[in-house]
Order: sequence, then structure tokens, then C-alpha cells
Amino acid sequence: MFFKKKAPKKRVFVLSLDGVPYTLLQRAFAEGKLPNLQRLFAQNGTFRQMHSVIPTISSVAWSTFQTGRNPGKHGIFGFVDRDPHTLKMYIPTGAHIRTNTLWEVLSQAGKQVVVMNVPNTTPPRKVNGVLVAGFLSMKLEKAVYPDRYVAPLRNLGYVIDVNPMLAQKDLHGFVDRLMEAVRKRKEATFYFMKELPQWDFFMVHIMETDRIMHFLWAQMEDQDPEFAPRFWEFFRVVDETVAEIHEALPENTLFLSLSDHGFTRVKAEVNTNYWLREKGYLKFKTDQPRDLVDMDSTARVYSLIPGRFYINLLGREAAGSVVPEEYEAWRDRLLEEIPEIQDPETGQSVIQKVWKREDLYWGPLVKQAADVIAHPVDGYDLKAQLAGDRLIQHTHINGMHTYDDAYLFVENTPLRDKQPIYLYDVTQTILQALGVAAPEDMDGESLLL
Ligand SMILES: [Zn+2]
Repeated sequence: MFFKKKAPKKRVFVLSLDGVPYTLLQRAFAEGKLPNLQRLFAQNGTFRQMHSVIPTISSVAWSTFQTGRNPGKHGIFGFVDRDPHTLKMYIPTGAHIRTNTLWEVLSQAGKQVVVMNVPNTTPPRKVNGVLVAGFLSMKLEKAVYPDRYVAPLRNLGYVIDVNPMLAQKDLHGFVDRLMEAVRKRKEATFYFMKELPQWDFFMVHIMETDRIMHFLWAQMEDQDPEFAPRFWEFFRVVDETVAEIHEALPENTLFLSLSDHGFTRVKAEVNTNYWLREKGYLKFKTDQPRDLVDMDSTARVYSLIPGRFYINLLGREAAGSVVPEEYEAWRDRLLEEIPEIQDPETGQSVIQKVWKREDLYWGPLVKQAADVIAHPVDGYDLKAQLAGDRLIQHTHINGMHTYDDAYLFVENTPLRDKQPIYLYDVTQTILQALGVAAPEDMDGESLLL
């Protein structure tokens, strides 16, 4: 008698490192700084540079990844948004994502999923498995589905996010807390691997890489004697964490790793609302506006971070002043004038590219996007304070996101030679690897051969 051993089932494990640039990893590998990641990424699979989304913001990028769709379909266009009818600003959450997500599609196909810490997954949606949301909810009670995992995570000392405000007060303490958060994330990963040993899809997100690069990018580049070693100490913890998790994966698991954008040094922050005020396009009723509600009735254009310009349109905005017949002329004017914004300290152009929304996004929700969207030259962080009194400013935040320097790693798997690759291609790739059909309106294409 011969007994054929049943092959272990196919699984996918995703480890995402928020904001980690492809080129930073390459440099670190060349210098031997991250030996475990180097062994894995550089020697055991396909390691590629990847494009992000516009605007290049984690909540937009991870909404794009988790839905496999562009913002014109999922409805998340920035870290803040506004209700045109009231001009009230709000922070979009996972509740504003208007499509199903990768984990819901997998759950419906009978796959068991564990999803931990991915941005914009608050409030947690019901899945066949576990979902622990990312940084928009600091309380575990509001972040965990199902409820019964709140207590075990609390007992573990699980950390959803480290408050970035701490970086301003105590940079060393901030780095310590980030490392602790990564260690706790690893412990929770092992806990859920034991709790749900039959998982099909498991995703662990490390937000802390983004957090540290906003505050220590310049010190790392300048090899600052006090803080460059802390930067690499933190990344070695990440390096070891990835190795330990990777080692614990069951047989026949496809291991993927990705980031959602790259990073570069901040040259300056640029206040697009100040620029609009100087042009005479934006006026507030008070010297200290606190909200868009304080806009003067003569205001024609206002902006939100980063680089999103809205026409103050009659019939759409609460106190609209631009008649619909003039809407296109205003958009054309912005398309022409926004690229003229310069850094007065250097004369350098601040803007790389400008689009009308329908030239950037597609899908049923395009009309919720800003009317005109601008993408900066690397190094110019577009801000939109309402009350700012200068175009350019410098703060303690010295790292900012870049569009074309995210990465994707897929273990032991040659990929199609598509150029460039996008976040939603990864979503399709995961679905194909697990043999689950993608929803018809999903963007992108699988990279598997
Ligand atoms: Zn960031």
C-alpha cells in the first residue's frame, strides 16, 4: 500500500514596512546593515521598485492596496477631507472606503485571514478570522474584530501606534517606544499563528518604519553621531523581526513584503493656502481662521494637504462663489499657475506635476476628489495651514514621502516584467496566488507568470 502525503495548503504571508524606500534597502544591503533582509530580498526572490499613489499618503496608499482599486473607486483621497455642503473637515476612516477589501473577498471565498495594523482599517470590518486595525483607533476596544481578542492583545502589551508628538519632546524615548511596538507586533503575530493555525492569508504591518523616517531621515543621511546609530538600531530590530517571523512560516507559504511609498529629505514645507491667499484667490473672514467655514464669500479656491485644490463652487460648496460656467476656466488657470510656485530661498520649482482629477483617477467616485491635484518635487512637503503667514517653512520633521520608490519582494517567485508596478497589482497577485477570483471592478493585474 502506498499512501500519498497530502501537500500542505497554499498560504500567503504579507509583511509590510510602511514607507521603506527600495533605494534605502539597496544601500543598506550594499553596506551590510540589514543582513537578514538582504539574505531574503536580495538573494531569494524578486525584489522590485514600485510606484505608489497620488497623493502619496499612507491612508490613500493602503486603501488602494486593501481594495485593489484606485481612489476613484475606493473613495479615500487624503488624510483629511471636507464635506462641501458644510465645509467641515474630517479624517476619512475605513468606514469611508466604498468597496470591499482584499480580506473581505478572501473571507467570502472561505479563506481564513489575519490582518494586523494595516492603515485605514478602522473600524475593523468583519472577516473570517481576525482584524486588528491600524493607527486611526488608539483603543483596542475599537480596533479589534472579533472582540474576544481585545483582552489577549492587552495582556500582551500590544501597541497600535506610537504617538509622533513624542518625537518632538524626547527623540530617544520615541525610538525606544517604536522598537517596543515592533517587538509587541511580533509577539502578537506568533500569538495569532498559534490561535488560528489554519490561516490562509496573514498580513502584518509595521507602521513604525514610517514614523522613524519622518523624524530621523536627515540624521541618518548626515551620519549624525547621536541619532544615525539609533536609526539603524531600530532597523536592525525590524530586520530581526522579519527573519524570526519568516522562519516560523508553515511550508508552502508564499512570502511577500512591500512598502507603500519611499522617503526623502524635506527641503521645505510649502503652504499652498498661503500661495492662494497671495494670488488673491483665497480670503478668510478672520485673521485666525480655524476652519474652512471661516472662508470669505469672495474666496475662489482653497486647498487641503497635500496639493489638493478645490474650486469654491456655487451649488456644491457651502458658500460657493464660482459659478459653474467658470469652473473649467478656474481649473485651467490653476493647471497653468500652480507649477509656477517656487521656493523663494532657492528659486527652485516646487511642483512636479498637476492634474485635473479625471486625468488622475477613474471610477464612480472621481467627483469626490479635489478639482486639481498637484504633486511636488521630491523634498517639498505640501501643507495647507489656513492661518500660516509664510509660503515656506522648516520644522523638526525632516523626512517626507516619495512616489516612485516603494518596493515589492516576492519570495522564490519570478514575476512578470511589467514596468512600473503598482500597489493594486500586489492585491491581484495575492488573490491569484490563493486561487481566488478578483472582483471585476478591481484595478491592476497579477504579477505571477
Ligand atoms: Zn508618513
